[in-house]
Amino acid sequence: DIPVLTIDGPTASGKGTLSACVADRLGYHTLDSGSLYRVTALAARRAGVAATDEAGLAAIARSMALRFEGVRVLLAGEDVSDDLRDEAVGTMASQISAWPAVRAALFDLQCGFRQLPGLVADGRDMGTVIFPDARLKIFLTATAAARAERRLNQLISKGIPASLEDLRADLEARDERDRTRATAPLKPAEDALLLDNSQLGIEASMQQVVVWWNARQPF
Ligand code: C5P
Repeated sequence: DIPVLTIDGPTASGKGTLSACVADRLGYHTLDSGSLYRVTALAARRAGVAATDEAGLAAIARSMALRFEGVRVLLAGEDVSDDLRDEAVGTMASQISAWPAVRAALFDLQCGFRQLPGLVADGRDMGTVIFPDARLKIFLTATAAARAERRLNQLISKGIPASLEDLRADLEARDERDRTRATAPLKPAEDALLLDNSQLGIEASMQQVVVWWNARQPF
């Protein structure tokens, strides 16, 4: 069986950074499942499909011509990785991810990332829905204040102006949508280990995950 390590948690908790570091350390593949909801949102916008059109969105999710080259995402041959980080795309991704048909349409695609020698998958439902048999499940959290501040620093470093209050309000709205949706709501898997990184740097967080991972190895 191909080993999987899942990292779920709310918006801007640092899942992506932590997953990339852990995968690099273990020599595993990564799945940034949020990018699949984001690319579905982008493809829908371009095709003029509304965030309210569940069947139309699911059709887009099933038929998108996607390719992954390392961390780059190609949609119909075009590198859209940077477009996926747009706030507008993120907001639409958050909205469309509430549709059961959209989640179902992305299921097989996500399972396909499980390849040797192993996978580190991050998102909202990796441990609860997509990889319930994962060897290790982490639920990563940080206070809303800490998450908003990190996101602000990311944007500032890219020269994008933003306000801390707006960012915090936006991420709290996203968390609320993720937690309260009927299908695959954001919550820790019963067997997940909780990691609060409000006060932890990336190196310390990675060390903790690697210690937990090593303790789960069969030999
Ligand atoms: O993690 P990221 O911000 O890139 O994800 C974009 C949106 O996709 C999230 O706001 C969330 O609503 C949704 N998502 C999801 N399930 C996942 C990953 C992301 O519903 N496994």
